[in-house]
Amino acid sequence: MKPDALSLDSVLDEPLRFASELSVGLDAIDREPLLAISPLSITGEVVRIEGGYALSSRLVWEGQLECSRCLVAYRFESSEDFGLVLYPRPAEAAEEVELTRGDLDAFFYDEPVVELSPIALERVQMALPMKPLCQPDCKGLCPECGKDLNAGPCACAREAADPRWEALRALREKV
Ligand SMILES: [Zn+2]
Ligand SMILES: [Zn+2]
Repeated sequence: MKPDALSLDSVLDEPLRFASELSVGLDAIDREPLLAISPLSITGEVVRIEGGYALSSRLVWEGQLECSRCLVAYRFESSEDFGLVLYPRPAEAAEEVELTRGDLDAFFYDEPVVELSPIALERVQMALPMKPLCQPDCKGLCPECGKDLNAGPCACAREAADPRWEALRALREKV
């Protein structure tokens, strides 16, 4: 058995505790703005419940994303606790509908061995922002000259002045 897999048969009266470092490739995530990712640190425990198992876990990792506005690479950290219920895959489709009702995410296994990687990767996908921003109010790049406006205004910004200011300047020129 792989070290990053949990053997559910070994969960007896005591919870089965686990701690793993999963190394992942960027291609496993397949998200355009993700530039780098650390190993995923996953810890937690599995206990027996009626008809299956309950997994509670903490997933910690960090990565580098590209800001969608200013294109700078920035650090992204994620630390989350999540729960999952594990059930043997039911033979009947109707039963499956029954089991997935409820708030907890359900995971169905064919063999009583659960690999941590697919579970962790799904959480990573969910944690990644659709529109990454280096800071909530990132000013982005000037569409004219391409300057990073977070570093200060560019020459174009000064030219596109407030029309009221333009009127004042016109007045002053007349004086
Ligand atoms: Zn930015
Ligand atoms: Zn500019």
